[in-house]
Amino acid sequence: MEQVRTRFAPSPTGYLHIGGLRTALYAYLFAKKNGGKFILRIEDTDRERYVPGSVEIIYSTLKDAGLIYDEGPDVGGDYGPYIQSERKNAYLEYAKKLVENGNAYYCFCTKERLEELHASGATKYDKHCAHLSKEEVEMRLKRGDSYVIRQNIPEEGSTTYTDMVFGDITVENKELEDNILIKSDGMPTYNFANVVDDHLMGINYVIRGVEYLSSTPKYNLLYDGLGWERPHYIHLQPIMRDATHKLSKRYGDASYEDFIKKGFLKEAIINYIALLGWSSKDNTEKFTLSELVDKFDLGGVSHSPSIFDEQKMTYINSLYVKEMSEEDFHNYAMKFYGNYDYLKGLDLKFLSTLLHSRVEVFTDIGKLTAFLTEFDGFDLQTFANAKWKTDAALAKEMLPGLIELTEKNFDGLHDALISFGEAHGYKKGQVLWIYRIALTGAQSTPGGAVEMAVLLGKDESLRRLNESLARVSK
Ligand code: GLU
Repeated sequence: MEQVRTRFAPSPTGYLHIGGLRTALYAYLFAKKNGGKFILRIEDTDRERYVPGSVEIIYSTLKDAGLIYDEGPDVGGDYGPYIQSERKNAYLEYAKKLVENGNAYYCFCTKERLEELHASGATKYDKHCAHLSKEEVEMRLKRGDSYVIRQNIPEEGSTTYTDMVFGDITVENKELEDNILIKSDGMPTYNFANVVDDHLMGINYVIRGVEYLSSTPKYNLLYDGLGWERPHYIHLQPIMRDATHKLSKRYGDASYEDFIKKGFLKEAIINYIALLGWSSKDNTEKFTLSELVDKFDLGGVSHSPSIFDEQKMTYINSLYVKEMSEEDFHNYAMKFYGNYDYLKGLDLKFLSTLLHSRVEVFTDIGKLTAFLTEFDGFDLQTFANAKWKTDAALAKEMLPGLIELTEKNFDGLHDALISFGEAHGYKKGQVLWIYRIALTGAQSTPGGAVEMAVLLGKDESLRRLNESLARVSK
């Protein structure tokens, strides 16, 4: 088998959304699985859709996610330049070749004529300029008339190819339009540039969105017209938000960066998006990137769209979080602690030990520590616990003693609380419940009574216990 060369060819139109990243991932996996090369090409010929800064986002996202490309604009390679706008001269030469052998033609139709054609109900260009005489074309070119170059699609017959996911695809040639290959500004359209670039870059496996499935016969006619070998094709179904809407930036949160900011780990994002359109033979769901390289196979690529499920991704993320070492968890959590002012001054390392088993995504830190800011004026009903038969009245009874033992015995708090219960005939569960609620005002906290006291420190613990006593005594 010749060396596999795949490419990811994004247009720099903003953030790298999840669908684009999935295409990149599959192209990467297929190349690496087969010992091939993965290439990045920036398709920036549509200047109107260009968003400054997005090329850098593409580079950094791919690298951060571990999809290291072997060739690309910022890493070089033997087939550059890897930015389409820097390849402008190559396209015209090949378009002219196609004109010479009858597979393309100059078109001088004005905007007005095309509008009239459209208004008259035509659904595609009527080949008007395909019938101009050679002399007329030469005269008009010499005169400097504005022109485009269009593909000359045969009016009869059909074109077939085999997609590696969808099987045989046949399109009647009469369904295809004589698309523009070179625009009046000399820039190629996607319809032409993808063919020329893929050929010149030696791309033999084209992996891209299913929206190109039915235009591929058109591209194949260009390969044929230029005497080039057609590549293999792998088209991918879209990722949906729900049954009817594609996942897109418009619905928010669909970019890699957004998910990183939300507290997902890159390993989990990659793992989850691999499953959006592919499944392993044994239905395993947790894969590192190198395991994916090992397991990925085209037989597992889905024929139907997949639905993005953030809960599922959260679950996958939680598996990765659990596997982190204490130290890695803490270092990663540090990036998020800064978002919460009220955490300043706490022993964050200790907080990390409490949160590690409870965090699914790192922004859970906000929910899990909210009790720290919500203490003031908490509902005294919180003291009620049916199992332990506790309430605010019992808190009023116990708190003076609990405050005293906290002052005297903060370092041996656990034993002091147990002895306190024994001495006064309270159950251990009652003492720990009342103590923890008086400290935090919350039924659910990321740790028990003693852990909460240690987290808050002696002074803050006493302040809170006294505050609770004052409130239950009112
Ligand atoms: N620039 C195209 C896009 O972003 C690439 C399609 C392809 O991979 O050929 O949709």
